Amino acid sequence: MTIRVVPLGAGQDVGRSCILLSLGGKNIMLDCGMHMGYQDARRFPDFDYISRTGQFTDIIDCVIISHFHLDHCGALPYFTEVCGYDGPIYATYPTKAIMPVLLEDMRKVMTGHRAGPAPFTSADIAACMDKVIPIDLMQTHPVDDELAIRVYYAGHVLGAGMFHLQVGHESVVYTGDYNMTPDRHLGAAWIDQCRPDLLITESTYATMIRSSKRARERDFLQKIHECVAQGGKVLVPVFALGRAQELCILVEDYWARMDMDCPVFFSAGLTERANAYYKLFIGWTNEKIKTSFVDHNVFDFRYIKPWDASLVSHAGPMLLFATPGMLHGGISLEVFAQWCGDPKNMIILPGYCAVGTAGAKVLSGAREIQIDPRQTVTVNMAVANLSFSAHADAKGILQLITMCRPRHVMLVHGERTKMPVLKERIERELGIPCHTPANGTAVHLDTAPRVPVRIDRGAVAVVVAERG
Ligand SMILES: [Zn+2]
Repeated sequence: MTIRVVPLGAGQDVGRSCILLSLGGKNIMLDCGMHMGYQDARRFPDFDYISRTGQFTDIIDCVIISHFHLDHCGALPYFTEVCGYDGPIYATYPTKAIMPVLLEDMRKVMTGHRAGPAPFTSADIAACMDKVIPIDLMQTHPVDDELAIRVYYAGHVLGAGMFHLQVGHESVVYTGDYNMTPDRHLGAAWIDQCRPDLLITESTYATMIRSSKRARERDFLQKIHECVAQGGKVLVPVFALGRAQELCILVEDYWARMDMDCPVFFSAGLTERANAYYKLFIGWTNEKIKTSFVDHNVFDFRYIKPWDASLVSHAGPMLLFATPGMLHGGISLEVFAQWCGDPKNMIILPGYCAVGTAGAKVLSGAREIQIDPRQTVTVNMAVANLSFSAHADAKGILQLITMCRPRHVMLVHGERTKMPVLKERIERELGIPCHTPANGTAVHLDTAPRVPVRIDRGAVAVVVAERG
């Protein structure tokens, strides 16, 4: 048999993850994301590749959403409500619960944008979510008589899963995004030695071996402290759920220890909402949070207060965590436009920024940033990037491959220029063929036919005895 894989998004790129997999005659869509760097048709995967006549439900057997980040689920309401896909969609319980919140946030940001109306409505999001079938960790869920799905813990963000798909003797693992090191609120990704025919893995940090977590945390706090001590304002763009909680716990701890009096804010409403989800899905967090949650909820913050738009022009130092993380709209971009001209201020981008976003432009050292067609600002503030993204680094990716021992590896969700280095390491150090297809390029893998044979135990015993 042949396994066929075509990335419609995330092939030699980060953004709009969407990978078509044909396994044992079943067609599966792995993630249905949008690209944060584009406002035109390129923001969505090229669904025409699947069908020009819109017969998606006849062709696709199921859709899998690995986690709630918009580059993995942002095109889903468009695919179901506008394109008309009506088949099953699978996601973990936390992903199903949190995904609509982020989709609605994005819809609002897009509606406020001058690029045109949002591609779907609130009603579309609700109708789409009704079609999502929630599934649990470490249980095998039959999609039909032949295809079965199993979910493993991926770390990364609350509810993120790695998906094992099996039809007969053929199997594929799709990692989505994952993290091989535990952090302050989530555990590390884990998979058993399932020996799939193919492992499709993210490779965001394909060539990076990250500095130790402690050093990164120290650096982050030191930068903030120095800036506010000089009277500056620090902006930290984050996504509502995920790194935000990690960094808030860190700052709360530091503020208490150092007896800091500089005000700290978080985009209004988000902490409360995040809190509710972490309480609801406490089983998905790490051991420490699980055991201490009864006495003390680490997400009940003492220092971090809700943000109010009028604070943007207040004099004096402050620290603000604002969404979204890639600075592509919303509060983080509005505040950036106000603060970026002052060299006393600082922006710390704690995650990955997709090409095309204002965040990526700031990181590349651009001095002039276009906020929208009518406003361009000059960047005088200090710019720092500290990688707190919960992605596996090169060491972590190799570790996961060693854990599950696939016959082939495919790299997606990474930068084209960085993939060859990791591909070479996987092939040389682990002896496993590695593929790095671009969007729209198909990879065919022949799976070894497994022929059952009967062996007479007596004959084996004779051979063993003869060989000594
Ligand atoms: Zn992610």
